[in-house]
Order: sequence, then structure tokens, then C-alpha cells
Amino acid sequence: MYLEKLKLDGKVAVVTGAGQGIGAACARALGEAGATVIVADMLQDRVDASVAELKKLKIKAHGVKLDVTKSKEVDAVAAQIIKQHDHVDILVNNAGVAKSDVKAEDTSDDHWRFHMDVNLDGLFWCCRAFGRQMLKQGSGSIVNIGSMSGFIVNKPQPQSFYNASKAAVHHLTRSLAAEWAMRGVRVNAVAPTYIETPLTSFGIRENEAMYKTWLEMTPMGRVGQPDEIASVVHFLASDAASLMTGSIVLADGGYCCW
Ligand code: NAD
Repeated sequence: MYLEKLKLDGKVAVVTGAGQGIGAACARALGEAGATVIVADMLQDRVDASVAELKKLKIKAHGVKLDVTKSKEVDAVAAQIIKQHDHVDILVNNAGVAKSDVKAEDTSDDHWRFHMDVNLDGLFWCCRAFGRQMLKQGSGSIVNIGSMSGFIVNKPQPQSFYNASKAAVHHLTRSLAAEWAMRGVRVNAVAPTYIETPLTSFGIRENEAMYKTWLEMTPMGRVGQPDEIASVVHFLASDAASLMTGSIVLADGGYCCW
């Protein structure tokens, strides 16, 4: 009975930013559980590479080029996916950016807008487009990728624009969860610590002192791997989390304990 709840056979799952990193791992986790996975990313070569990897694993995968910042494009892609697959059961809002280590006083309008456009606005356009379909169906599970940076202020790199965007993602998650709870749509978020992906190479690979601080500030003394977030996403997306909505689940190696 319990393992059954984690199975996703017959479900259609859309994962944004699934061309690499955490998104690619989420697509694999959901696909291994039986879902048909739609890999959505703004870069076509990443879409193609990610879909090819999934197909090698015998996962039912399709790709679509999507820039989440463009609301009309999001609506069109949602309509196209619904036309092709009839339903959408899972949405993982993973596409996100972090050009960190910029002080607040040096943050340009463009830098601020870039982060808000992708991390917050883009995530909302996707929740709205796919959420409408889920509400029509009377069922669906949305998992947003937030960040521990929505709870704490990272050290040593300044990144107020990123932290603010992720705190907003957390509260948007709760707001949508409350609005849609009685209509069969659950909305949760995962808040990861530092995960080893291209996004964090500025610290893990390029700045030894920064990386040392990250590890010292983490009770587990290590960063995470994409699959360690994907397994939490899989749980939240599945019926195993049927009582959960509006939760922001920390997967942070204990970072927020201190
Ligand atoms: P990544 O940079 O490795 O991958 C992000 C993917 O999103 C890329 O394939 C990129 O092409 C795509 N993308 C970027 N902008 C897009 C847009 N406008 N439309 C569609 N796709 C777009 O990043 P990652 O580390 O895998 O991070 C994924 C998510 O996890 C992000 O939301 C990030 O903020 C969050 N997160 C990451 C970490 C970490 O340490 N890596 C920690 C906490 C939260």
C-alpha cells in the first residue's frame, strides 16, 4: 500500500529547467516512478540532451523549449501539452537563476529584474497555466523549488535579489495551496541547501574560501547532490504526500538548525 502511493504510472509530469542539474534529476525520479515526463527548458540543446538521457533509461520523455519568463509562451506550451496528453498531473517549477555575490548597493535594475522574472514571475506563470488545467481536472500536484535562502541569509556571498525571490516563492506556494486546497490541487515547495550543479560552481569550484564557509555552516559538513532533492520532489508530487499542501520542506543538511 505504501509503495503503491509513490508510483506515478499514467501521470503526466512537467518539469521546468529540466535540461540539467536539479530539474534533470527530478525528471528522472518522476520518470522512474512511471510518469510520462515533459522536459521544459529555455535551451533546446539541453532539452534534447536531457530527453536522450531519459530515453536511454526507458523513461517516457518528451521535450519542449520554454522560456518561463514569457507568460504567453507558457500558456501556449501548456495548451499544447494538454492537447497532446489530455491531462497534466504534476508540475515541478524548477527553472531558476542565481548570479550571486553581488552587493545590494551594486545591484542593477536589470540584475534584480532578471532574478525576479525567472524565479518568481516565471514560476507564477507556470502555476497559473498548468494550475488552471489541474483545477479543471480536480486533481494535481505542484512542487516549487524554493531555497533555504528563502529562510536564511547566505554567508559570505551577498545575494539579496535571490533570497527575496525565493522567500516570495515560499509564500506564493502557501497562498496557492490555500486557494486550491478544496479543489484537489496541492502546492508544496522544497527548500534545498547548496546542491552541486552548474549554478553553484562559483562557490564549489571557483572559490575555495567561500566553499569552506558553506561547509562550516552546514551541520552535515557537505553540499547536496541533485538526486537528494529529486527524491523529496518525487515524494511531494506523489499520493504519499496526500495530506501535504502549503509545506516548504527543507532539504538542507541541517543548515537552518544553527
Ligand atoms: P542549473 O543552473 O544547473 O539549471 C537550471 C536550468 O534552468 C538550466 O537548464 C537552465 O537552462 C534553465 N532555465 C534558466 N532560466 C530559464 C527560463 N527562463 N526558462 C526555462 N528554463 C530556464 O540550476 P540548479 O542548481 O539545477 O537549480 C535549479 C533550481 O533549484 C533553481 O530554481 C535554483 O534556484 C534552485 N536551487 C538550487 C540550489 C543549488 O545549490 N544548486 C539551491 C537551492 C535552490
